[in-house]
Amino acid sequence: MKPKDKITFINAAFEKRFPAPKSELEYATPFQLLVATMLAAQATDKKVNAVTSVLFKSCPDAESMSRIGLDDLREIIRSINYYNNKAKNILAASNTLVTEYNGNVPGTRTALENLPGVGRKTANIVLANAFGEPVMAVDTHVQRVSNRIGLVKTDKPRDTEDALIAIIPPELIINFHHYLVLHGRYTCKARKPLCRECPIVEACDYPEKQFGAS
Ligand code: SF4
Repeated sequence: MKPKDKITFINAAFEKRFPAPKSELEYATPFQLLVATMLAAQATDKKVNAVTSVLFKSCPDAESMSRIGLDDLREIIRSINYYNNKAKNILAASNTLVTEYNGNVPGTRTALENLPGVGRKTANIVLANAFGEPVMAVDTHVQRVSNRIGLVKTDKPRDTEDALIAIIPPELIINFHHYLVLHGRYTCKARKPLCRECPIVEACDYPEKQFGAS
């Protein structure tokens, strides 16, 4: 299947399986999305949601977050991997948002990536989900699934991002990101992909498809 036909096929299949695709992180504002995404590195969305359900009650925005003490923030997020560094970065980023952006999250890549603890992947997630920019955040699921399917052939996330952006029509990119993440999380799992119940098996080039009992 040619790459363009593959994208069309996969998009149609996932539109049916995930009719309203979205991040599984819970947030109400761009600021909360930014914080949840910063917390989500090396942590499950479920665990992040458990922590932010408490954190966002007392610190729903950059101003309130910038006023929480480091020790208090550490304590609230201590069940998350790398909580110490994450607490420092969230506090520093909140301070920057208050002093330089009137408490708002900026909508440009440069400004986002200049915030402490914010790299390209986090910036892409915020740009796509808070600002509707057609950018592709490459996490472990996007990297694995897009290589297995044969949409890209690279172990470098940045190359994967560029290759996906080049072949997916801009209007499909935001949903396509969610499709790849959700498919990777629930079906095309790292160790044991559930190929028997995969809706895009015909479009997949992975030579080690598994059709055993799921
Ligand atoms: S056929 Fe298997 S390896 Fe290919 S995308 Fe589906 S679950 Fe993943």
